[in-house]
Amino acid sequence: MIVRVGPVSYDAASSVPSVPTPMNLDLPTILVVLIAASVVLGGAVLFVALRLQRHVGLLWWGAGLLVNAASYGAFALRFAGQVELSILLTNLLTGLTLPMHTVALQHFHGPQARRLSPVLVWGTVPLMVLNALLWLNDDLTRNTALGVVLTLQGLVFAWHAWMPGRDAPRVAGRWLLLAGTTAMVVILTLRTVYMLHSGTGPAQLRVPPEAQAMTYLVVLMALLTNTIGFVLMQMEQALARLHDAATHDALTGTANRRALMDRFECALSLARRGERPLAVLMIDIDHFKQVNDRYGHPAGDAVLREVAHRIQQRLRRHDLLARYGGEEFVVLLPDTDRDAAIKVAEAVREAVQAGPLIVGQLSIPVTVSVGVHSRVPPSQDPQGDQTADQMLQASDRAVYRAKAGGRNRVENES
Ligand code: GH3
Ligand code: MG
Ligand code: MG
Repeated sequence: MIVRVGPVSYDAASSVPSVPTPMNLDLPTILVVLIAASVVLGGAVLFVALRLQRHVGLLWWGAGLLVNAASYGAFALRFAGQVELSILLTNLLTGLTLPMHTVALQHFHGPQARRLSPVLVWGTVPLMVLNALLWLNDDLTRNTALGVVLTLQGLVFAWHAWMPGRDAPRVAGRWLLLAGTTAMVVILTLRTVYMLHSGTGPAQLRVPPEAQAMTYLVVLMALLTNTIGFVLMQMEQALARLHDAATHDALTGTANRRALMDRFECALSLARRGERPLAVLMIDIDHFKQVNDRYGHPAGDAVLREVAHRIQQRLRRHDLLARYGGEEFVVLLPDTDRDAAIKVAEAVREAVQAGPLIVGQLSIPVTVSVGVHSRVPPSQDPQGDQTADQMLQASDRAVYRAKAGGRNRVENES
């Protein structure tokens, strides 16, 4: 019995293609490789996902790969003569893969990120089933519709891969997703166009075996590229989070002391090279202990966050705000002389004082004392790498004087 599978006819008994493909790209082998790759990748991804606490979409990705493998398995049912069941199952399972991977991307980007409607993501699955039911015996129409629906799914997937935009940091992996998906959409479109324009006869026979084999080969490469891309995205995101945690203060989101000292050294060397002034502001919240005592520690935390926010509003893009200690902040102002630094310090002081901080039902009046120090670091620095510490100590002395002078004021130390 001869069974029609893909572009070639197969002898059901021997399962050997009756038309040999050029380039030795024979279809059954590529299909087996596709199944093996999907199972191995899907299994590996699921194994890792189940062991991780934070897997942002890996479960969906791994499950999608297994469903993809199953779709090729369903394809093989044709060898057993179950052509109609095979068509139905293949359409359903193939239709599920890209939506599942799209949902994996949605999980990756988090609930806040923009996403397309679930109707666009999942609505294509019933379309695939309908396609199989309506044109069970019309290979050409069914295969054409399948190409169109898969292209639509590819575009929805690519939209989610692209979604954070060109400027999104540290997600190089998504370029792999875009490349893999584009290759897949292009090859499916080419195959559909080829099928529609090449003579008559059953759809499978319209696409030459080597073109069909090429399609599967590109689908295999897209599968690998996309999975590597998604796993890399996970790694990049984890690294970015680690970097963030290592350089930022968890409560206020400002730079932490370690990041401040790193940036301080960079700012100092730039200032030395350009013989430009570098200024430091030391900002200390007045009577903060009383805020904690009167309103409670959580309210104190909220005050710290709001004060940081108000300070940040008064700074330029290249200035740096860091939490230096409990209720002390340091601001680095590159290319800023003493007078300009005092102006920024006054603006910061007024911004904090401008209105009471609203924390829930509470209205908490808060002020800060600011110590200012600015200097042009000498190009040949005899003090070595002590300059940053000395500048911080100078601004600290200025804060001390501001406190002694009655608080809610700015003092400068030369
Ligand atoms: P002064 O005007 O002289 O600066 O007085 P002060 O009360 O602000 O200074 P003091 O150093 O006596 O108290 C600082 C307080 O800041 C004590 C500490 O409990 C509180 N604090 C430090 N870190 C945190 C934090 O993360 N959250 C909260 N809520 N309080 C903190
Ligand atoms: Mg203090
Ligand atoms: Mg204080």
